[in-house]
Amino acid sequence: MDECIFCKIIEGKVPAKKVFESDRIVAFLDANPASPVHILVVPREHVPTLNDIPDGDPILGEMATVARMIARDLGVAESGYRFFINVNRGGGQVVFHLHAHLIAGNDFGTLFIHMGVAFSILWRKLLRLVRRDR
Ligand code: 5GP
Ligand code: ZN
Repeated sequence: MDECIFCKIIEGKVPAKKVFESDRIVAFLDANPASPVHILVVPREHVPTLNDIPDGDPILGEMATVARMIARDLGVAESGYRFFINVNRGGGQVVFHLHAHLIAGNDFGTLFIHMGVAFSILWRKLLRLVRRDR
């Protein structure tokens, strides 16, 4: 998918602040955050919309698992967050590579949340450096 911005982010061709990567899922900060925490949870595979996932594909559950893990790491799991998917133009979808929004932090500890995000990015960078040394 040459023209897909999320495919380019996943491949590292376009920069984004990634907070999680696995063999099937990548999560990164939204470039235009609606809230102190606004993270996009994205499958590596280019699937345009929720409608295009085959029945029985476990990817949605995997995305939810990643989202709640990130929410926990950022300290918003208990205070609360939103996890949702916009589907097609009428549902507000702008980028046609399936993604879920993880949004939290309007009503408390903005600084604390930013520190959490910064720490998780630094931690990933550190891990990458350590692995490179091996
Ligand atoms: P949608 O409306 O399609 O559900 O959400 C798309 C989201 O992707 C928006 O919140 C928008 O800010 C975000 N977005 C669009 N382009 C980029 C980009 O190049 N980098 C990042 N990090 N986020 C983007
Ligand atoms: Zn894509």
